[in-house]
Amino acid sequence: MINQVPSVTCGTHGEQPQTFVCVHIIESLKTGDPKGFWWSRGEDGVWDAVCTDCNNLSQAEFDALGADNIKVVCLGCYEDAAALNEVEID
Ligand SMILES: [Zn+2]
Ligand SMILES: [Zn+2]
Repeated sequence: MINQVPSVTCGTHGEQPQTFVCVHIIESLKTGDPKGFWWSRGEDGVWDAVCTDCNNLSQAEFDALGADNIKVVCLGCYEDAAALNEVEID
């Protein structure tokens, strides 16, 4: 299956497919402190992931955090975060 995932340009990894992660995962990339990495892949081929805290929230609680809780990162950064948490994605 060929997916046309929109790309983003990352200062570290260059042009990459976009992914969505919670702000806590972005923070863990900066601090090097793993916070969990619960990933999934949508039918559109777009990866997303949240930290353990966000994963433990109900859908309503998670939705209440709003759009500011989720940021776009490149697939390279996404893979870095997975590796930091020793999670394999495929
Ligand atoms: Zn989170
Ligand atoms: Zn990147």
